Amino acid sequence: MKNDKFRNVVIWGTAERGKITYNLLKDKSEINIIAFGDNNINKQGKEYCGKKVLGISDIVDLQDLDCIVIASQYSVEIYDQLKNVVKVPIFVDVWKLLNIPIYVEISEVLEMNATIDISGWCNAKCKWCATGIQNRENNCFERKYMTYNKFKTIYNHLINNFILYRFNEIMLYNWGEPFLNPDCLKIIEFLSEEEQVFSISTNASVLTLSSKRDTYKSCRVFTFSMPGFSQNSYDRIHGFNFNKIKENIKKYLENLKSCGFEGEAVLSYHVYQFNLDEVCQAKEFAASLGLKFVPVYAYLADYGLTEQYLSDTMPYELLKEVGKDLLLSHVDKLLSEMPDDFHCLEENQIYINAEGNIELCSRCENSVEDYEWGSVLNLKNYKQWKDIRKEMLMCKTCRKCKKLGIGYWAFYNPKYIN
Ligand code: SF4
Repeated sequence: MKNDKFRNVVIWGTAERGKITYNLLKDKSEINIIAFGDNNINKQGKEYCGKKVLGISDIVDLQDLDCIVIASQYSVEIYDQLKNVVKVPIFVDVWKLLNIPIYVEISEVLEMNATIDISGWCNAKCKWCATGIQNRENNCFERKYMTYNKFKTIYNHLINNFILYRFNEIMLYNWGEPFLNPDCLKIIEFLSEEEQVFSISTNASVLTLSSKRDTYKSCRVFTFSMPGFSQNSYDRIHGFNFNKIKENIKKYLENLKSCGFEGEAVLSYHVYQFNLDEVCQAKEFAASLGLKFVPVYAYLADYGLTEQYLSDTMPYELLKEVGKDLLLSHVDKLLSEMPDDFHCLEENQIYINAEGNIELCSRCENSVEDYEWGSVLNLKNYKQWKDIRKEMLMCKTCRKCKKLGIGYWAFYNPKYIN
């Protein structure tokens, strides 16, 4: 600890996190844990880890208190409550207390998100997506997926080391189709049990239904992605049976309803030149099922292709093909609005692939330079993650991305409005 002004500490929270925090601090000679705190009146006045448990009114009267460290999944709410009654610094994660003698930036913690690609492959043949292109060339990714046990290990590692909190959203998809993972439901059930916020996106080609009441309790957004609203459009992009997809979407929605889902169900419609006349039908379909309809311009979901397109190095035949499928007239104007000091919007997002390694971001497929950054289990704490992320964002791939506007295009890809 660099600063000795935080000697007398109260740990707020008497559950698992409280114990972890206690174990991290108890042997530090410069720290004196004077008590625990908890909002639960049934716990107040009793002992936890050999220390008295106090309530908010007791804390106000503590003479020698130097700081409070919150060790609870409800850190945001507790922080809001405590900041109005105590004058001492409040830390929402213990590493800040141990390493950096500054007041915690709670906004930083709130902005953190994670993407864990639980399936390392996809079965769709999207023409302008890196994964779909490999599938079309029969060169698809090995059918890798993250097992339930591996997922749990990674999740617990992130939580126990205060890299992620339960209120930070975990997206269970990036390049892969999550429901191709045979452990997908187990993973979702686990996250709901942990009260961990998560989101999922599917092409609805595989139907995996749950029979448990609370499976989707913590699911914030459930997205169905569609490349059009006809068999013709499906033949051109995903390659699935269109009627079956519609049936599967209905069955998924029924299942969500019976399994505790209270989040937002979305139909993400990818607008191509050839499916413009299907937008209204898709919108009606969404409305009939209570789905939020989000039509977005389809774009090049492949770093290499986007780089070629934006640097005017795309081979002519390919460019002609792109021009036949995608709507691109808005792109030049969009990129002309990119500020010189544009900050990558994925700065606070940790990407983890099916093997448990850190990936650069959602823009970069596995063939891109700087794609992989080692096992996530090597991360020891949030500070280390921030240091690595800083280094990542200065890599050659990121520099090129910012110069050409590859990420900017994807982040600000407009909604189709007609
Ligand atoms: S700058 Fe571009 S390549 Fe780098 S993380 Fe952001 S989106 Fe990805």
